[in-house]
Amino acid sequence: MDRCIVCGKKEVFKDHLCRECFIKQNPVVKSIKPFSIELCVKCNRTIENGKALTLEDSIREHLLKAIKLNDGFELKKIDFNTRIDKNIIAVEFSVKAIIDGKNVKDNYVIEIPLKKGICKDCNKKDSKAYKGILQVRCRNQEILDKIKKALFSSKNFIKSSFSDEKNGFNIKYLDISETRRMIEEFKKEFYGYSSYSNELFSRDNQTSKDILRTNIRYSPLPFKGGDVILLDNRYYEVKKLKPLMLYDIKKKELKRFDDKRVEQEFSMCKIHSAQLIKLYPEPELLNPNTFRGAKVENKKFFNGRDVVVGDYLNAIFINENAYIVSEVKKEKRKEKKEGEQINKKEKK
Ligand SMILES: [Zn+2]
Ligand SMILES: [Zn+2]
Repeated sequence: MDRCIVCGKKEVFKDHLCRECFIKQNPVVKSIKPFSIELCVKCNRTIENGKALTLEDSIREHLLKAIKLNDGFELKKIDFNTRIDKNIIAVEFSVKAIIDGKNVKDNYVIEIPLKKGICKDCNKKDSKAYKGILQVRCRNQEILDKIKKALFSSKNFIKSSFSDEKNGFNIKYLDISETRRMIEEFKKEFYGYSSYSNELFSRDNQTSKDILRTNIRYSPLPFKGGDVILLDNRYYEVKKLKPLMLYDIKKKELKRFDDKRVEQEFSMCKIHSAQLIKLYPEPELLNPNTFRGAKVENKKFFNGRDVVVGDYLNAIFINENAYIVSEVKKEKRKEKKEGEQINKKEKK
């Protein structure tokens, strides 16, 4: 019996080679045209020109189009397995083909980029099903960003409907009780007001009932406890939000304010973490903007406190002077010191 001229196996398939060696020298697949797949995150079908397919069917269709065989081979069948890993679909496939009337099989692995989106059907369904618009308004971008992030992580909100508005944004929601629940959660952190208003959206032709949508407006307070604000040319530390109690830093007075007026007229002051560079005869903080020492105006802060030179304190700087707003917690100081020691050890 003839032997394979490469490996010596007692089998000749074609051209003096066994089946295995023949396929090694003559791969079944000549080329694979690259392609990518977009998957709808809602219905798990692929998004293609006007067709919604399962991932299975879509990959099969793409493979059949993308694979070119070498001369002489006739395709019989493609079998494959898929594994999704973040933004990549790994496809392991085997190609069964015929050459000179004989069966051959060859194995390949390819990686397909995976994009995620929302298909037209799901988008349409969402915009029909929305129950109203949530309007969030606040003059503090940081707070707006936090709320937006929380809304975007919930399936209750239609991300594609998000729009930036003056001092805030609008977004459509699907379920009113879930929206209400989330607003109550936000109020625990950001306080503020919410109001609900019904709006005639359309009339159901079959039942001739009015379809109402509820627009919800939520305005979180644009500041939180510990913030320092400028109002009527005076600097105030926010001590309490409900009711709004502000502490006049220069006059050292605590007063109650109407939060709606404050909201309209305040501007936010930057609080710096500043290092205490001197304690006697006069305490001084290093102004991080000018890198110069600034006398601490509210010296009483130090009475009975365990504060040492080198500590960091939260302060605002007005003209040449510093006003301490709050102490950095002791544990933090310890951490810092321990951290410094570790650094020193490493340097040795
Ligand atoms: Zn061989
Ligand atoms: Zn979909």
